[in-house]
Amino acid sequence: MLHTEPTSSIRTACPYCGVGCGVIATVERDGAVSIKGDPDHPANFGRLCSKGSALADTIGTEGRLTRPVVDGQPATWDAALDRVAGEFRRAIAEHGPDSVAFYVSGQILTEDYYVANKLMKGFIGSANIDTNSRLCMASSVAGHRRAFGTDTVPGTYEDLEQADLVVLVGSNLAWCHPVLYQRLAAAKKARPELNVVVIDPRRTATCELADTHLAIRPGSDVALFNGLLDWLASGNHLDRAYIDAHTIGFEAAVAEARLADPVGATGLERAAIDRFYGLFAGTERVVTVYSQGVNQSEQGTDKVNAILNCHLATGRIGRPGMGPFSVTGQPNAMGGREVGGLANQLAGHLDLADPEHRAAVKTFWRAPAMAEQPGLKAVDLFKAVDDGRIKALWIMSTNPVVSLPDADRVAAALAKCPFVVVSDVVETDTTRFAHVLLPASAWGEKDGTVTNSERRISRQRAFMPAPGAARPDWWQMADVGRRMGFAEAFAYGGVADVFREYAAQSAFRPELRRDFDIGACAGLSDGEYETLEPFQWPWPAGAGAERERQKRFFAEGGFYTADRRARFVAVRPRALATTSAFPLIMNTGRVRDQWHTMTRSGLSAKLSAHLAEPYCEIATIDAARLGIRPADLVEVTTAQGRAIVRALVSDRQQAGTVFVPIHWTGRNSSAGRVDALVAAVTDPISGQPASKATACRVARFQARWYGFAVSAVEPENLSADYWVTAKSKAGWRIELGCTNEPEDWAGLADAIFGTQGRDDVERIAYHDAGSGRHRVAVIRDGRLVGALYAAPEPVEVSRAFAAKALEQDEFDAGDRMRLLAGRPGQDRPDPGAIVCACFEVGVNTIMAAITQDGLATVDAIGAALRAGTNCGSCRSEIQRMISHARVAQAG
Ligand code: SF4
Repeated sequence: MLHTEPTSSIRTACPYCGVGCGVIATVERDGAVSIKGDPDHPANFGRLCSKGSALADTIGTEGRLTRPVVDGQPATWDAALDRVAGEFRRAIAEHGPDSVAFYVSGQILTEDYYVANKLMKGFIGSANIDTNSRLCMASSVAGHRRAFGTDTVPGTYEDLEQADLVVLVGSNLAWCHPVLYQRLAAAKKARPELNVVVIDPRRTATCELADTHLAIRPGSDVALFNGLLDWLASGNHLDRAYIDAHTIGFEAAVAEARLADPVGATGLERAAIDRFYGLFAGTERVVTVYSQGVNQSEQGTDKVNAILNCHLATGRIGRPGMGPFSVTGQPNAMGGREVGGLANQLAGHLDLADPEHRAAVKTFWRAPAMAEQPGLKAVDLFKAVDDGRIKALWIMSTNPVVSLPDADRVAAALAKCPFVVVSDVVETDTTRFAHVLLPASAWGEKDGTVTNSERRISRQRAFMPAPGAARPDWWQMADVGRRMGFAEAFAYGGVADVFREYAAQSAFRPELRRDFDIGACAGLSDGEYETLEPFQWPWPAGAGAERERQKRFFAEGGFYTADRRARFVAVRPRALATTSAFPLIMNTGRVRDQWHTMTRSGLSAKLSAHLAEPYCEIATIDAARLGIRPADLVEVTTAQGRAIVRALVSDRQQAGTVFVPIHWTGRNSSAGRVDALVAAVTDPISGQPASKATACRVARFQARWYGFAVSAVEPENLSADYWVTAKSKAGWRIELGCTNEPEDWAGLADAIFGTQGRDDVERIAYHDAGSGRHRVAVIRDGRLVGALYAAPEPVEVSRAFAAKALEQDEFDAGDRMRLLAGRPGQDRPDPGAIVCACFEVGVNTIMAAITQDGLATVDAIGAALRAGTNCGSCRSEIQRMISHARVAQAG
């Protein structure tokens, strides 16, 4: 159902991270959309982070795919879907069902996932469907299943607020799950005795909240938690009754843990480790939160089990304020886990490897060709595309040419795949490989459900029509299912039909005993589905109101193993290896204001203002050794590939390691696609790539000149060794670096601004051949078309000032001088790089408030400048600046 009434407010859910915040979207009479947090949603109670707050900037028709394309030509849906069904049928007939595959996404809705799984696993007869969620949380799934017999997150967000100790492992909550971080920060403010320990090789923004930061060596988590288990056992800090009644394998796990050398492995001092162990042992209400720093590892599943072992040993699970807590990266990664989005699972938390489970699903679906064995996991799936085993592939709402490890090999594999379908909302690095390109409905245009990290299912609702012929993913797949000959099984009249069937499937054959049961939703009317409130599962048929239902799992045991007991898993640490050719460990991850491959967040000028370039954060000591200065360009090289990014020299980075963000693509950077550098190494149990530990080397990139430009139009065909584009309010920001000097600087400027050969423009320039500094600005009808600044070293101009000049209507003589200088002038201080995206408050403005005005708290700065007073995502950075200034003053 679409909601296009004037000034209508629709409750929906944020499409970004796994916190799963509720959003209210209001469509004004003129079609403009405004966004605010939903005060009644139990995940966020009205809060939104910078990404959620900027959602209104990212919707619209700019760049949208609006009609199907077949072999590069516009086509009707009929022709496109006939072609898809025909090619899949042909591949299956000639090469068998395992010659086809779907690669889907934590961005799609549960109903999309359900139809995709049903088609592939029940009707095509293969389990070759995997999801990009494999890249973010498969190790948590595997760890949960090993310990609990099922993939259950036992606790709720409230537990973080009710705990006396929150341990954050491999989780930059402040940037990656900002609203959950804000909830934790508010709890700590109200109860300062709430102790927060961050375990992370990097000193991230999250550390600003921490009482203790344990900067362990990368990959040494298992040794640290094995050491903790040993400590708990040796000091008798155990819940013996819980261990005896509800678990098996304790002795073997402890025997293995006794071999751990946490000091040697982590590089921490004994005293720091003992303090942490003592704190954990002596605090009953402990929550251990973990995410990609744990999961994205060659030993990710073992790391998860090392954490779970400690909670099982102390019986601290499933009670208020205690438990292990895996936070998911994507808006519907959890929904994908529930609905069987992974190649080794079936819908409703059933197991593909279990014949009874397969039989139940086969019966429920009346499936003619039930898959008999697990399919290919993401990395292996693309290896199978590469070696020719996969003949037809359908990629939905994901961009594997940017996001999978060894991404250049993924591109090469797609280039030779006989048939590739891509459904997406905009063109991406991946869509260029599509034989059939299908326009999908985007957030705000589609209906369905998502599940957040605390098992809460929320409705995503449409509040605007999809442009052109764009259609929801479930609709596309159901239609192909019917065209493949399965008319009855895919005859859904609407998305509510899909949800009802899924809910009924979750309750089918109750004797199979499973944690995931939303049978109460099987009989919802269309109207009830439309108004469905966010709820936590389980919600079995006949259960009462939410407040009366089960909220947590496992306080009294009741695990989903054959004997109802949890399993301790004996895990052995493994050290990471580097070589003399690649002596550093490269860690990859997210930045605060961008999301995945920027197809949505990159449309917002506000979000692009925080960090506008890909970078390599490198320890001061390593940078000095390698002759790298702040803001230099650097080459990061691994056995797989090479990237050129900006150097961010910092004391927050551990010596011997570097950090590079994942978001930049071939569409907005020359060489910033860092997953092309990541080795396709996976955890042997979960199949999750080890994206946080690729051996690399870093060297200064010897640019002959560096440049910065602003342009009113998006530049096309930039030719420089290094270029990066980012959206600004009235145009684009461009960073440049090149080994060859152009013959003609004005000509280069014209090429960037698209003004070659135009005589209706005015060009003003400043050249200093001696110093190698060049500035060119092009003005038309009193407005700036573009400005280019070049120098033999990283260009020192005010980016914010130059970008703002694109909004200006007139340029008098003084304005022109300031424009060429790239500075706003003495009377107008340069705000510097943006820290607070909501109110566009820059680093220089905040530093002046700290050092000149003496403001010493985040709240005082908020009161003076408004920074940090809306979404709050920048508060940890402001706190860091205050702490830094204090240290500098003390020194
Ligand atoms: Fe969206 Fe931010 Fe909430 Fe995550 S924390 S769901 S990105 S508003």
